[in-house]
Amino acid sequence: MKVVKEGFIHQLNFYPTLFPVSCYFVEEENELTLVDTALPNCYKSIIDTAQKIGKPLTRIVLTHAHGDHIGSLDKLKEMLPDVMVYISKRDERLLRGDRSLDENENKTPIKGGVPKPGEIKTQPDVLLQEGDRIGSLKAISTPGHTPGSMSFIDERTKAIIAGDAFQTRGGVSVSGHTQVLFPFPAIATWNKEVALKSAIKIKNQNPSLLAVGHGKMLKQPGSIIELAISKLEKTIS
Ligand SMILES: [Zn+2]
Repeated sequence: MKVVKEGFIHQLNFYPTLFPVSCYFVEEENELTLVDTALPNCYKSIIDTAQKIGKPLTRIVLTHAHGDHIGSLDKLKEMLPDVMVYISKRDERLLRGDRSLDENENKTPIKGGVPKPGEIKTQPDVLLQEGDRIGSLKAISTPGHTPGSMSFIDERTKAIIAGDAFQTRGGVSVSGHTQVLFPFPAIATWNKEVALKSAIKIKNQNPSLLAVGHGKMLKQPGSIIELAISKLEKTIS
């Protein structure tokens, strides 16, 4: 596991050479927010890293309910029972193993590793909606990869943690646009037309940093994001 720090954001990058999976600590004055929990065996490194930073982990925020983002959730909640857990209202259903779609949602099937009903024991404390605040982070609804995917922008710096709305491994791309060198996030994407709209929404935030679930963080990502959007647009139109 490798830790990379950019401002208030610490990226914990597991298996960087094989199948990179990242989760993030967002540093607040007196505490830490963990965004995503990586794979089931990552909890020990997550706790060790919090101890090294020297601040208590008080919140866990989930970008979406895929297995490589919620893997250590139960273990962390068991070890730190006071931690508050946040997920979007929509993806909480996926966390419970319910893959059903709403009336108004695009009827493409939800893909990727979603927990089986009853598999995840943790009950989220807060079901997030657009604009909710979690410390310095603001929740932005960015569906597409899953119906309830969310991104989180740090209002101090405009760094954005976008889960799998983008990937930077194997080439920078919008969720749903297959990168031959690392196709897994695209294979796990529910709806790329919806993902495209969310990518534009992220671009319009003018983020100073793009941090994603799979791949390196990108500073001043504006033009790279634009390019990734135009590439996906070409495959759709
Ligand atoms: Zn995912």
